[in-house]
Amino acid sequence: MGVVTIGTMLGTYLIAYFFVDQPEIVALIVIIATGIIFIVGHFIISGFVYLAEANRMKSEFVSITSHQLRTPLSAVKWSLNLLMDERWQKLDQKQKEYFEIMKTSNNRMIRLVNDLLDVSRIEQGRLDMRPGKFSLDDMIRDLIAEITPIARDGGVSLGFEVEGGVPEGWADAERVRLALQNLVDNAVKYSNDGGAVKIKLGRFGNFLKCEVHDNGVGIPEHQKADVFQKFFRSDNVRKYQTEGTGLGLFIAKGIVDALGGKIGFSSKENQGSDFWFTIPIAK
Ligand code: ADP
Repeated sequence: MGVVTIGTMLGTYLIAYFFVDQPEIVALIVIIATGIIFIVGHFIISGFVYLAEANRMKSEFVSITSHQLRTPLSAVKWSLNLLMDERWQKLDQKQKEYFEIMKTSNNRMIRLVNDLLDVSRIEQGRLDMRPGKFSLDDMIRDLIAEITPIARDGGVSLGFEVEGGVPEGWADAERVRLALQNLVDNAVKYSNDGGAVKIKLGRFGNFLKCEVHDNGVGIPEHQKADVFQKFFRSDNVRKYQTEGTGLGLFIAKGIVDALGGKIGFSSKENQGSDFWFTIPIAK
């Protein structure tokens, strides 16, 4: 639009220069040029308004659908828990296996629906936060205790290091936990058998900085710019890790941005990755 406006101004100036003795022609041309700019501008602006509206409707659709899916999925979860409770009935090995498969699939769907809800909240700028004081140190220890059995199954070790005494953080603890979990899950998921994941916590000015280091598959150089994009999955992991939605890092970034922190990474393919984020310190 700017180029059209500048071009028309220059054109009008040249016409006025050459037709200096015929002001009525110059006036007519200026009127026509103004009309053209007005019409072109109108179409461009309507195009943007239409795109913004389509985007808003898409986010609203995802949000409503996810909300609607959450209730039946939760009902399935509780019913399965009851069915699997052996206080009420004995299950044979085959039945247990089938129930486990159903439970895993249902939990995966619940996670996906929750992720989609968070994505639409981030896109609509309404990721509500309930900030408060909390210990990031304790949160990391809890998460490590929770993830260690899964990591061990994949032959991956988990370590934690705190640099000096760190103060409490000021943020929505539940959201920070989700961001942290996404980074740690990834570090484990994209490590090979025998891999080592190290989490580091330290102070960084008025912020707490948490780093999640792994010596896994890394991210190819040519795809690094897209890492925090929605649905991004790098070529090297698609081949062997079919599970994954490409939403975890988008959500982690949305959370950290909304908290006033920063998130970033460095990575080398076949050598490993270092993902980090910062959150404010409690006053
Ligand atoms: P998902 O893990 O479900 O695919 P994420 O948004 O968490 O989605 O991650 C997006 C992509 O970024 C992953 O598919 C993977 O290609 C890459 N990635 C993220 N973390 C790591 C990591 N620690 N090591 C290697 N690749 C990673």
